[in-house]
Amino acid sequence: METPGQTLHGVLQTIENAAKLAGRPAGVKLLAVSKTRSAAEVAALAGAGQRAFGENYVQEGVAKARELAHLGLEWHLVGHLQSNKAREAATWFDWVESVDRPKLVKALDEARPAGRPPLDVLIQVNVDDEASKSGCAPADVPALAAAIAAAPRLRLRGLMAIPAPAPDPEQRRASFRALRRLFDALASSHPGVDTLSMGMSDDFPLAIAEGATLVRIGTALFGPRGQDLPKEPG
Ligand SMILES: *Cc1c(COP(=O)(O)O)cnc(C)c1O
Repeated sequence: METPGQTLHGVLQTIENAAKLAGRPAGVKLLAVSKTRSAAEVAALAGAGQRAFGENYVQEGVAKARELAHLGLEWHLVGHLQSNKAREAATWFDWVESVDRPKLVKALDEARPAGRPPLDVLIQVNVDDEASKSGCAPADVPALAAAIAAAPRLRLRGLMAIPAPAPDPEQRRASFRALRRLFDALASSHPGVDTLSMGMSDDFPLAIAEGATLVRIGTALFGPRGQDLPKEPG
């Protein structure tokens, strides 16, 4: 069986190769998505050198961030965020990748503790316009970006999306391309924007080819999850 370090090395190698092919030799960041994994599994991967971890649920993420605070890891919230959990999220996470409505901008800005640097945020875009998904409509990105840019305790870093599962790679490529266009437009009007979060275990090389700067990977690092958790109610 592979050690966590060997698995990590293999994923990093695949990222590096895809980035090189895309002409961005050192530009793609790995977020290890650790939902459903124990703090011990996170610590093992951290011991192999991984620093950034992603969680879907505030409570689960906070519990791990507290337990592993001594390791100084970077925590990203990648799941849907309810406004009533904004305070906890703004306190314990370093990034929130799932900002998709003005109410959340206000709640996170007010809740980010004064002693911490501004909270890094991504706008989650519902790129395939799926009724069941979180994320704002592509047309709503500019207004939401302006609200984030005006919030002193938040720092707008870019976009995140979870394209619809499409067995046809060309369909997925089209979603990634649409995101890239939105990202380029956003970056041209907001100088601090440098992060395009797209690509998971089964499609990250394609996402990198289409311009991802951050890939969110769970299964390829930790193995299959027993069962996927139900979506948190909005
Ligand atoms: C679970 C999850 C991932 C990782 O998915 P894998 O297929 O296990 O790599 C990435 N992003 C989000 C938002 C997730 O919920």
